[in-house]
Parts: sequence; structure tokens; C-alpha cells
Amino acid sequence: MNDATRVTRAGLPAAAQGEPFLPGPTFAGTYHLSGDPASAAYTYGRYGNPTWTGYENAITELEGGAATVVFSSGMAAISATLGTTLKAGDVLVMPSDAYSSARLLASGYFAGLGVEVRLAPTAGNAQQAHLQGARLLWIESPSNPGLEVADIALLAEAAHAAGALVAVDSTTPTCLGQQALALGADFSFSSDTKATTGHSDLILGHVAVRDAAWADKLHAWRRQMGSVPGPMEVWLAHRSLATLHLRLERQCNNALAIAGFLASRAEVRGLRYPGLPGDPAHPIASRQMKFCGPVLCFSLASQEQAERFLQHCELVFEATSFGGIHTTAERRARGFSGSLHPPLRQRSVRSPSSCTGSWRE
Ligand SMILES: *Cc1c(COP(=O)(O)O)cnc(C)c1O
Repeated sequence: MNDATRVTRAGLPAAAQGEPFLPGPTFAGTYHLSGDPASAAYTYGRYGNPTWTGYENAITELEGGAATVVFSSGMAAISATLGTTLKAGDVLVMPSDAYSSARLLASGYFAGLGVEVRLAPTAGNAQQAHLQGARLLWIESPSNPGLEVADIALLAEAAHAAGALVAVDSTTPTCLGQQALALGADFSFSSDTKATTGHSDLILGHVAVRDAAWADKLHAWRRQMGSVPGPMEVWLAHRSLATLHLRLERQCNNALAIAGFLASRAEVRGLRYPGLPGDPAHPIASRQMKFCGPVLCFSLASQEQAERFLQHCELVFEATSFGGIHTTAERRARGFSGSLHPPLRQRSVRSPSSCTGSWRE
């Protein structure tokens, strides 16, 4: 079955006479439990919900993993992955250009607990030089918002040889664009807030694993920390999966078209889109990705020029985040450099039906 078909059926229950294809969300804080609760699949709303199970089954199939655990946000899923794999004294290798909240969580909270955090750029597989003694290598490829790409198979092999686990943030390309587990990752993470669900109307995240034993630990974390998603959000996510291939394909074509146009403009500098032939990341991206994602980034000469550009884009919403059905753009250089009013330059465009844009947060 090809991916475009697979997404329309992933996680659906077996056909049953008179029943819907995708059952509606189950709103339950608790469930009937007569006699021995061990006979019940669901006991309490923080422990499990059939709507979660349906979505997790769908993602497991699409990710090619052993199991998936869905969380209330991408950050909740990252916290769970770091929290279940790391303890004081462990070494975490992270991209220095990773999604800013993930980096802050590692360098703030986890470093404060006694985890040694080593930061190295995504570009040039620079993290490879920092793997000795590591417990976990966190990869983000393509990185958000810089659109750098790492060679996942190469890094995963090096990490495993050093005795480290490997997690990959595939938020921008989604699991259809990049099969992180097949490339060697132990954990495939995505913020499903973005292109995976694609309608800019919910916050959600998941981790898919190659070894089901990790799913047990992630389940325990979700139960104990309470980072549970609402059934309505998860149901919307499952419903949205059916159009993921259509949306992503269009988004990536749009992103490539926008990147091609921008590449022809003298004012545009530092254009990055891994799907663009000639982009430094294109050779690796075309080897390891089926879709390069909906985000691209570029710079203009000044804040004034950047703002003028945004004001004149009639069909582009100024917003943070990406992967939805509307094209958005954000001046990412804002707030960089620690100043309240930095001289801004960088800007990124995220195109809704394509793989484009850059932003972080
Ligand atoms: C958005 C995003 C996250 C965090 O996900 P939330 O759903 O906002 O918590 C992590 N990594 C990347 C690359 C993202 O774009």
C-alpha cells in the first residue's frame, strides 16, 4: 500500500456493520470497573483512552515502529523522552541549533539535575565528535528554523557504537517525509501541532519507538507526570492524518516553488530549503527524506525591508508555527541577540502546502 492510501486507513478498527470508519472521541474520566479491574482495557482517563490508542496505532504503522505514545504537546513528548532516558551524570548531545524550547529544557532543567549537555551544530554532522560517553544523542533534522540537515544513519551508527541511544525530531518533514526509525533512531519524535495534523487548531506530540520496552517507560511517565492529551485533540489529529500525504505533497511543492522564486531575487540572502537543488543540505536530504517539509528560511538586508516584505504579502499570515493550511511567515531574528530591539534580518516563510518556512516556537 502506498503512503497516500495508508494514511486514509491507519489505525482504523476492523470494519463492523453499522459502525463508523473512525469512531468518535471517547470522553471519559473513568470507566466501569466491576470486579477485577485487570479485565478492563481502560480504567481511568489519565491511564488510557481508546481515542489515544487509535491514534497511536495509526502513528506506529506510519512510523514503522513497535509502539507510539501520544502526549499533550510536542514539549511534553520531549520531556518524556529526556526524562525516561537520562539521569544525573548522564551525557546528552543536542544540536546547538535545535528548537529553542527543547534546547532550553536540556540546558536549563536537565542540566540543573546533573545531566551534562553537549551542544554542537546540526550542519556537517558536528554532533558526531561529542558522542563519547553519551547516553542520548538528540538529532533535529531538518533543524528549525535554520533548515540544516544531519546524516541520521551516519550519526545513529556512530551513537550506537558509542553506546548511546538516538532520538530524532522529525517535526518539519513528519513521519511521511522522514522515517527516523528505519534510519536507525530508537525514538522518533514529532510535534503533531505542525504539519502532521496541519490545521493550526491543536497542540499535540508523539514519540514512536523501535523497542516496545521504551513505550512502557513513556506510558509510566505520562501517567505519573499527567502530560495527557485531550480526547478531542487526539481525535482531530487522527481524522487529519487521512489528508497528511495530500497536504504534505502540496506543501512541499509550494515550498519548492517559493524557494525557486526567492532564489532568483537579488535581495534574498541565506535562502535555505533542503528540497532546493543547490542547497548545501540537498544531497543528504534527497537521500534520507521523501518530503523535505513545509519550512524555508531566508534573510533580507534590514528589519525595515523584512517588514515591508511581510506587509506586502497578501496571502501570508504573520504567525509563529508552521505546517497548517495557511501560508505563514515570521521574522525570526526578533529577540535574537538578547536585545529587545535587535536589528533584525532573518525572516522565514512557512508555506502551508509545502515544505517551507522557518521559525522556531
Ligand atoms: C513546535 C516544535 C516543537 C515543540 O512542539 P509543541 O507541540 O509546540 O510543544 C519541537 N520541535 C520542533 C522542531 C518544533 O517545530
